[in-house]
Amino acid sequence: MDRLLVDCPACGGLAVIVAEEDAGTEAIGWGSARHHAPRRLTCTACFHQRRAARQALADPTMGLPLRLRGETRHGTLFAINEAHLGYIEDYVRDPLRRETVEPGGIRNRSVASRLPRWVKAAKHRDEVLKLIERMRARLR
Ligand SMILES: [Zn+2]
Repeated sequence: MDRLLVDCPACGGLAVIVAEEDAGTEAIGWGSARHHAPRRLTCTACFHQRRAARQALADPTMGLPLRLRGETRHGTLFAINEAHLGYIEDYVRDPLRRETVEPGGIRNRSVASRLPRWVKAAKHRDEVLKLIERMRARLR
């Protein structure tokens, strides 16, 4: 989860924000020491680059909108990257995984706990899966 996809501030294309390797911090993900490491944005379309120093990190997306977002009449769904969107899709597609304790299950469960209620509602399943498909199209 140390990879955020956002809209490029220069061209509106797909840009990637990653935490830079930083002596003294461990690669243990968001919410940990690495959360405070400097970040670098690189656009996959125009190669625009931007760097955020330690002080500017209250906002992990550098003030840019998350690339993977989808609007519905119920609300907006956000995913920070491809893997996160994949977890959400797995969860919505197969509700039985909600109770799983297999490898990956805990991760799925913590992702699920942060999902809006409308995303988890069984009656919205098809609508949410279509939304995820539309969001995935924003990766290209
Ligand atoms: Zn760009």
